[in-house]
Amino acid sequence: MIQINRDALVERFMRYVQIDTQSDPNGTAFPTTEKQKDLSRVLLQELIAMGLEQVEMDEYSYVYATLPANSSKKNIPSICYCSHVDTAPDCSGTNVKPILHNNYNGADIILPDDPSQVLSASVSSYLKEHIGGSIITASGNTLLGSDDKAGVAIIMQTVQTLLNHPEVLHGEIKIVFTPDEEVGKGTAKIDMNKVGAQFGYTLDGGEAGSLEDETFSADGASIIINGVIAHPGYAKNKLVNAMKIAGEILAALPATEWSPETTEKMEGFVHPVSLNGIAEKTTIGFIVRDFKTAMLQEHHNKLKKIAEDIVATHKGASMEYVQQEQYRNMNDILVQHPQVALYAAEAIKRTGLTVKIESIRGGTDGSRLSYIGMPCPNIFTGMQNIHSKLEWVGVNDMVKSVETLVHLAAIWEEKTEE
Ligand SMILES: [Zn+2]
Repeated sequence: MIQINRDALVERFMRYVQIDTQSDPNGTAFPTTEKQKDLSRVLLQELIAMGLEQVEMDEYSYVYATLPANSSKKNIPSICYCSHVDTAPDCSGTNVKPILHNNYNGADIILPDDPSQVLSASVSSYLKEHIGGSIITASGNTLLGSDDKAGVAIIMQTVQTLLNHPEVLHGEIKIVFTPDEEVGKGTAKIDMNKVGAQFGYTLDGGEAGSLEDETFSADGASIIINGVIAHPGYAKNKLVNAMKIAGEILAALPATEWSPETTEKMEGFVHPVSLNGIAEKTTIGFIVRDFKTAMLQEHHNKLKKIAEDIVATHKGASMEYVQQEQYRNMNDILVQHPQVALYAAEAIKRTGLTVKIESIRGGTDGSRLSYIGMPCPNIFTGMQNIHSKLEWVGVNDMVKSVETLVHLAAIWEEKTEE
């Protein structure tokens, strides 16, 4: 295996995380914050300097680039490596001061700008695995931003590695950096013609060796309750309070199952997320989640029945049940293209790591990308404790991720007939 330039990778990562790219869930512009463009512009210039083709940053701050094939085989599918430039709104991303801890010895790491922030191997077995290696943390006041600048740095270093090693044969590789992933809009303005790849991989996963090929299927639901309104002074036997009915419905939800707080692994749930209303009319908003897409309708039916039975006991009250599709399990698509995840698993194996196939109890940009024409599992970057001041990433994990992407490009070439 060719050597990955660790120092260049670390330097790249440390530089990117110092650029503030926090997105804003309340932002109405696209991207939601102007500052995300600061990193997109840097990436644009670096991709141009590396000599890539069709390098472009569009008005929405998406960056697209093409690394042309260097293999003479004609039918190699184009693959895309994708990550997001923004960081989570949950924790400050201003003035990030990354700290490289070389030869981490396993002792507690007290972050200098806020000594109450302590990273301890005694509570994290994964941190223990990095003793003797190098890890990168923030300084205590901010997140680190390895979610997803680890992915960005890994992809950029992969491109540089492939350029430095023309002996590694590969097909066309498309690079895409998206804004606003953390606020659920990462693919909102993506131009799939510019992406131009048949299969893709997001670099937005955690522990080394992990490969995520499955996400929840997700719906939203609203129960709109109409009460009966009357002057409260003369309301006896007339007024029906929609808010009180909403309270009964919430109280009727099972307490020990069927909720995010009582489920794990492959179990689905129904979760009330909002309650808005007045006595006359009240709406309860829900999210509905399951790995099996067909189960969503069963969850809806069960929820609707609970609500209808309660509303029926209130004379004059009525309800409406509205369901909306949100996103779908990428696995429904990936099973039709088994080679996409298989080749990624093979690439991870070639780095010497054990492959951990995992399911995400949430969605990724890849779930949406899989449904708009680019089957797209998620590959590890090493990021840990994301969206928090205790975020960290192991340098070895990032190096292994670059190795994985280099192998993966080569595997697509190898598996294609002349
Ligand atoms: Zn992410």
